[in-house]
Amino acid sequence: MPSLVREKKDNIIYWRVAFLEKRAPVKAVFSGRSGGSSRPPYASLNLGLHVGDDPAAVMFNRRLVAESLNLPLQNWVIGEQVHANRVARVGYQHAGRGVFEPATAVNGVDALVTAEPQLVLVAFYADCVPLYLVDPRRRVIGLAHAGWKGSVLRIGSRVVNRMVKEFNCQPADLLAFIGPAVGSCCYQVDNRVGQAVKNNLPWAEKVLTSDGPHHFRLDLPHTNYLDLLAAGLQPEHIGLASICTCCHADSFFSYRAAAGVTGRQAAILSLE
Ligand SMILES: [Zn+2]
Repeated sequence: MPSLVREKKDNIIYWRVAFLEKRAPVKAVFSGRSGGSSRPPYASLNLGLHVGDDPAAVMFNRRLVAESLNLPLQNWVIGEQVHANRVARVGYQHAGRGVFEPATAVNGVDALVTAEPQLVLVAFYADCVPLYLVDPRRRVIGLAHAGWKGSVLRIGSRVVNRMVKEFNCQPADLLAFIGPAVGSCCYQVDNRVGQAVKNNLPWAEKVLTSDGPHHFRLDLPHTNYLDLLAAGLQPEHIGLASICTCCHADSFFSYRAAAGVTGRQAAILSLE
């Protein structure tokens, strides 16, 4: 069974996270870049309101995705995404945060957890790592945005710990999916990032390889995989997309491939 299944609906293309949807009562989706109304360099299904695109085009795109997936926009909850590791527990009272105005996003967080059905956790990416977490027993979900900073700060573990603390989840029950993100093939980092990885992650040598003087290649998806294992997840409960967004910049927005100015795709996770 493929862990991601490509679908085309209403002219937009997205990927269903079959790894999670087959095992738990959730909708789990990763959007692509095709079928929206944004113009270059945001063409065309840009879902990020904070990247310089025309807000009307972004809202059109968000509505298109919401309608295609039957996940109403007013139920979406969006975090601010500041490349740190804070996690917010959200509920119905947060519905709509960050959806119509970026300023209303849940402040200072890169991850959201909830146990409320129909609430839709949404986060945005262009190479950073999407982490989906689901507890099918206690019906709890979490969604995180892990760039290199969040990965070094072990945001995946932080989400797991929060699910344990708030909802009494057991890590061995949790399912996780690591979505499309920049692969080590395309992710050269400098000495500053390399040192941060070495100083903070016990598994640094497994994810960092030398790439010439003062440079490394960093495997961000694998870093997050190892973090989730360290948090107590079972290896067979962790799915990996193993798709590099930079190698596939025709299908996905890639910050690296676009040298900085581009749109954002979304990870979308909701309990049924
Ligand atoms: Zn690549």
